Amino acid sequence: AKEGGRGIYRFFKREMDESIRERRSLARDLKQGITDGELVVYYQPLARAADGEVCGFEALVRWQHPTRGMIPPLDFIPVAEENGLIAPLGEWVLRQACADAAAWEKPLRIAVNLSPLQLNNPALPTLVHEVLISTGLSPHRLELEITESALFKDYQRALDNLRRLKALGVRIAMDDFGTGFSSLSTLQSFPFDKIKIDKSFVENIHRHDRATVIVRAVLGLGRSLEIPVVAEGVETQEQINFLRSEDCAELQGYAIGRPGPLHTLEAWTRANPAP
Ligand code: C2E
Ligand code: CA
Ligand code: CA
Ligand code: CA
Repeated sequence: AKEGGRGIYRFFKREMDESIRERRSLARDLKQGITDGELVVYYQPLARAADGEVCGFEALVRWQHPTRGMIPPLDFIPVAEENGLIAPLGEWVLRQACADAAAWEKPLRIAVNLSPLQLNNPALPTLVHEVLISTGLSPHRLELEITESALFKDYQRALDNLRRLKALGVRIAMDDFGTGFSSLSTLQSFPFDKIKIDKSFVENIHRHDRATVIVRAVLGLGRSLEIPVVAEGVETQEQINFLRSEDCAELQGYAIGRPGPLHTLEAWTRANPAP
């Protein structure tokens, strides 16, 4: 039994060493990849619920790895956060997204995700200001999406950064609403410009009575606080009908459009031809 135990220990140790090695090699590749231009920004449309008109896009980063293929953000953002790479990565995404949006003929909004580590960096507002100036994007077209965990590390500093960003004219959205431990106190702590209901609730509309009630309640909360609510992960016409009837402001999800590279947005971002 003793031998077996040690064998199991050795087995787990080997697995662990491998996963640490794997992560280290991924971090090395990522550092190189950022400078070699392997990152790509995909854009997913957001539509006004009332008339289905596309009113903005969310920037979602991907990594085109030379041998591993397209890597989704949830597989490398944590690696970037653990290895001091989230600052250069986040700055690259912000700059790219703002530059792309500035070139659109229609002045649509562009939403960019911020890692909690970025929000805790006192240099963030200065960086955002500089990026707006150098890309020529007007501040009210930029929306920064943060999750409540961004306020956990250093609450005062994060809040101070949010205030300075808002003073620039940038909009702040609360992402993944309802999935954290204190969504309501986070909402109370800062005047967010938008609430994004997490897709885990939206996908269960009409499938679980409680999810339906929760979505309706969040929409009511947004209405009372006068904060527009966006539903993410909208995949069916049934969900669209429900969200529309409950006065949801904006919709995002595969039923509206999947994330795609810049060139696939042409039709949405060009000015309407003269009638
Ligand atoms: P998120 O901010 O909640 O982004 C929404 C995610 O839901 C995206 O996954 C999007 O592709 C996916 N999605 C959109 N519509 C639907 C739908 O109808 N059904 C389903 N099942 N999924 C849908 P993605 O692109 O894999 O991004 C995952 C997460 O990675 C994001 O979640 C965000 O937290 C993070 N992320 C992405 N880009 C960045 C970035 O530039 N910086 C940072 N810090 N995080 C990022
Ligand atoms: Ca987001
Ligand atoms: Ca989200
Ligand atoms: Ca999410």
